[in-house]
Amino acid sequence: MNTYYAQRIYNWFLDLIFPKRCIGCKKFGDYVCRGCLGTISIKKNFECVGCKRNTPFGQTCFLCAKTNSVDQLLIATDYKNSLVEKTIKFLKYKFISDLERPLSVLIKKYLKWLTLDKKFNVFEANPLLIPVPLNSRRLNWRGFNQSELLAKDLAGIFQMEMAGDVIERTVNITPQADIKEKEERLKNLSGIFKILNKDKLIGREVLLIDDICTTGATLNECAKVLKANGALKIIGLVVARG
Ligand SMILES: [Zn+2]
Ligand SMILES: [Zn+2]
Repeated sequence: MNTYYAQRIYNWFLDLIFPKRCIGCKKFGDYVCRGCLGTISIKKNFECVGCKRNTPFGQTCFLCAKTNSVDQLLIATDYKNSLVEKTIKFLKYKFISDLERPLSVLIKKYLKWLTLDKKFNVFEANPLLIPVPLNSRRLNWRGFNQSELLAKDLAGIFQMEMAGDVIERTVNITPQADIKEKEERLKNLSGIFKILNKDKLIGREVLLIDDICTTGATLNECAKVLKANGALKIIGLVVARG
């Protein structure tokens, strides 16, 4: 059976036996109610994707830029907020695909602040939205790619172009979270992304979307391949940094 269809049935079944309850306050109705969503604040300081030091607008510092192909990192909110952490984890591991909504609302709030208060217009160069791909085994198992759900939502909200068919993950790897050593993490990731559609990339600025960024190694590997195939600039946009 089509995994998406199976997913829908599963969600319907879940709703039937477990009516939606807010992850925060346990009130029935939504997975994250409006009240709880409103309490989550956006992140107002910026950091380098490589060394996590504060940099203007999250630009990659000159030292990290030698090895990191991401030009800038934007982080919408804080993983230390337990509601944010739970929402991301539930979306990822509990097969609840509706949960990308509250997360994209947070990104929307963040981008509004960035544009109006900080006068940084992320849309200026008409960037292409690209979700970090999952490998097919994980995709089949989960039924959806949470980053793609987020990117689709954002494309709808901001009337932007989203391309889920530009880059793919070629091999199944050990989940990064299971590898302790930084060196091993990098080796684990090297060469795992492949470009499928180069035409869309040439001369474009890319907003690379992921739910979470840890060391930044996955974003870097993606960015490397995207740039090698014609992308001009890569801005990583994530919900939170774990
Ligand atoms: Zn609530
Ligand atoms: Zn740095």
